[in-house]
Amino acid sequence: MGKVAILGSYVVDLASLVDRLPIPGETLLGSRFMIGPGGKGSNQAIAAGRLGSEVFMIGRVGNDFFGQMAIDNFRREGINIDHVAIDPISETGTAQILVGQDSENMIVVVPGANSKVEIEHVNNARAVIQGTDIFLTQFELGMKTVEYGIETAFNLKKLVIVNPAPAQPLTREIFPLVSIMTPNETELQSLTNMPVDEIEQVEKAAKALRNLGVDQVVVTLGRKGALLVNESTVQHSVGLSVNAVDTTGAGDAFNGGLVTALAEGKHIKEAIVFANKVAALSVQRHGTAPSMPLRSEVESLDH
Ligand code: ADP
Repeated sequence: MGKVAILGSYVVDLASLVDRLPIPGETLLGSRFMIGPGGKGSNQAIAAGRLGSEVFMIGRVGNDFFGQMAIDNFRREGINIDHVAIDPISETGTAQILVGQDSENMIVVVPGANSKVEIEHVNNARAVIQGTDIFLTQFELGMKTVEYGIETAFNLKKLVIVNPAPAQPLTREIFPLVSIMTPNETELQSLTNMPVDEIEQVEKAAKALRNLGVDQVVVTLGRKGALLVNESTVQHSVGLSVNAVDTTGAGDAFNGGLVTALAEGKHIKEAIVFANKVAALSVQRHGTAPSMPLRSEVESLDH
């Protein structure tokens, strides 16, 4: 069992289904309401946990109903929450989602307690980071904290994996501290200001990211799988051909799979094959966290 520290977000997803999106000032009746755990940090933690990693979550929730729900859910998933702090003032992060016809949507995210994860919080979790094999983070907390987390894990000689989502500028000095960066095509475009319409362009942009100092780049390509670019190879690992019903959280499933395989000592190419399987299973089911597969489901694909 590999050990993974995840510095990241938790938001509760509050989703309503409506026939059409409302206009300002209008009240509509929706047809369904769903509530569930979300936030890239939490989603990736749940994915990695279900795949067999020992996960240590570093984050913050509010001292409210949703915060308690988050804690209960992390516990149920077997995730270590010693470093999930409870903020006395700020509320738990929320995402209010309206889903209309053809999946058109409106989303309001209030980061709340996520924006109160400070440098001191990362310092408190130093021993945990030290004790794990891999450090994983995303761009949903304050960037100062994210960058400090990356520096801390790098100085502790950990494998640092960064999922640069949602796209945000990163300080130049931080790129060389990243062992593996996992952008999707849009994030790659925004990090490099380069076009990514063709696979050759994706390769060029990934190489540009390497020139900034990132050791290995794994670009997720939706149903087309993922492209690995490192010092010795450029390798396209094709995605599984499946009937996708909901691709939200596909990237989170992929990252959870990638870190789990790497923490177990698998080679990067093998880890990408594993991550493609995990993500392909998740897109065949509705929901984000609930769609994350168990290890046994991934293994049964091989039989
Ligand atoms: P994000 O969700 O971050 O935008 P992608 O859309 O690139 O990320 O998807 C992440 C991974 O999920 C892909 O690398 C692939 O493994 C898997 N995936 C996404 N969409 C599909 C699909 N339609 N069929 C099979 N696998 C998919």
